[in-house]
Amino acid sequence: MSRKNTAAAQKSVAIQNLGCSKNLIDGERILALFASNGFSVASDASLADIIIVNTCAFIKEAKEEAIDTVLEMGGLKKSGRCKALIVSGCFSERYRGAVKKEFPEVDVWAGVDDWGEILSSLIRDGLGDGGAVSPSMQGGLGDDTGDNVGFKRVLSEPLSTQHIKIAEGCSHKCSFCVIPSIRGKFKSRSVDSIIQEADWLYGQGARELILVAQDTSFYGRDIGANLVKLLESLLKSTDFPWIRMMYLHPQFVSDGLLSLIAAEPRLCRYFDIPLQHISDAILASMNRSPLSRGIYKLIERIRTAVGGAALRTSFIIGFPGETEKEFGELKNFIQFAKFDKLGVFPFSPEEGTQAYAMRPRPKANTVQRRCDELMSIQQEISREILEAKVGIDTEVIIDRISDDPDFNYEARTRADAPEVDGRVFVSSGDFEAGRITTVKIIGASDYDLYA
Ligand code: SF4
Repeated sequence: MSRKNTAAAQKSVAIQNLGCSKNLIDGERILALFASNGFSVASDASLADIIIVNTCAFIKEAKEEAIDTVLEMGGLKKSGRCKALIVSGCFSERYRGAVKKEFPEVDVWAGVDDWGEILSSLIRDGLGDGGAVSPSMQGGLGDDTGDNVGFKRVLSEPLSTQHIKIAEGCSHKCSFCVIPSIRGKFKSRSVDSIIQEADWLYGQGARELILVAQDTSFYGRDIGANLVKLLESLLKSTDFPWIRMMYLHPQFVSDGLLSLIAAEPRLCRYFDIPLQHISDAILASMNRSPLSRGIYKLIERIRTAVGGAALRTSFIIGFPGETEKEFGELKNFIQFAKFDKLGVFPFSPEEGTQAYAMRPRPKANTVQRRCDELMSIQQEISREILEAKVGIDTEVIIDRISDDPDFNYEARTRADAPEVDGRVFVSSGDFEAGRITTVKIIGASDYDLYA
C-alpha cells in the first residue's frame, strides 16, 4: 500500500488513562501499537474515531471514575466523531463479564492480551488503514511485561521525567488487595529490555527515570536477578542523573540496596514504602509483614545507612478491627517516624478479597475523622521538615513553566516524586524543562517550597 493511500484512510485514536503510573505506561504502549498500525494519535477525544478508556479498579473511587469516564466518552459517539469505544485495563479485566449489558455504548471490553484481535477487527470494520496488523501485535501486549513487543510507547508525561515498568503482577497476598487476581503473579522484565527502554527514554529527553512495579523491591526474584543488580546495570549503561524508585515493600528493602543508594549520587535518596498500618493485629489480618517491630527497625536502618533519606508512605485507615487503640498506635508511629510525605486511604472493601468479609468495620464518619486527624498531624510535620530547608541550596529538576504568574517555574527536589509529592516554585532564571539546577530555598508552606 502506498503512503498516500494510508494517509488518506488514516483514522485517529485517543486514550483516557486513569489510575496509576503503571496504567499510564500500559496506555502509552497501547497507543504505540495503534500508531504502528497506521492510526494517528489524537490528544482531544472529541476528534478521535476510536476512544480507549484505560481504567483502574483498585478501590471504590477508581471504579467510580472508570464508570464516569466511560459514560462521558460514550456521549462522544453521539456528539463527537467516535465510531468505537474500547474499555481496557483493570476495570475491564475485573468486571467485563458482569457489566457488558449495562454499557451498550461500549464496543469492546479489552483484556491485556486481546489487542491483536481488536485491531484486526477494527481494520476489518473499516476503522483502520486497511492494512494488515503488524506481526508484533498479534499476541496483544506481548508477555504482559513489555519484553515481546519491545518498549514502544507514545509518551504522554512531560518528557523530562519518565516512569518505567520493571515488572508486572504481584505474588504477595495482602488480604485487602485485588491486584494479584487481576494482574497475576509477579513477572520481572529482563534487565536487557529495561536498559533498552531506559536508554530510549533518555534519547527522548528524559533526565529523571522512575522505576515502578507493584513491588519494585521484589524485582528479579523470578528470573535470578535482583533490584541492586538492575540498578547497577542502569547506572553503568545509561546517563540518567536522577533515578528514583516507587513502591518498595518493607519486607524486601535489603542492606545491599541501602548501601548502593548511600554510595551512588545518581540514585535519589527517596524511599516510597507503603506500610498500610503499624498495629500488629491489623498487619496480621492484612497478611502483611514485617510487623511493627520490623517496621520501626526498617526506619532506623534506612536513616542510619542513608543520610538525608526522604521517606514516603501510605496507610489504610478503617481496616476491619481498627479500634481507637490501633488508631492510637498509628498516630504515635507517625509522630515518631516523621515521614517526609504521607498518604492516607479509607479502607475500600473489594469483592473477591479476604478482607471483604472481615468485620467489624469502623463507621464511615469515624474513618473520615481518623484520616483527617492523621493528615493534620502530618501537615505540621511536613511544614517543620520543609521550613528546615529554607536558606539551603538544593538541586531541583525543572518540570514546567508555572501556571502561577508569581513564579517562573515549577520544579521538584530529589525528595519529591511527580504528582504525589510537593513542588518547588522558582521565581527566577531561564530554564528549559528537564534542566537540573541548584536553587536557594527562600520559603516553605505546608507541602511546597519556594526558591
Ligand atoms: S504488595 Fe500487597 S497491596 Fe501491593 S499489589 Fe501486592 S498484594 Fe496488592
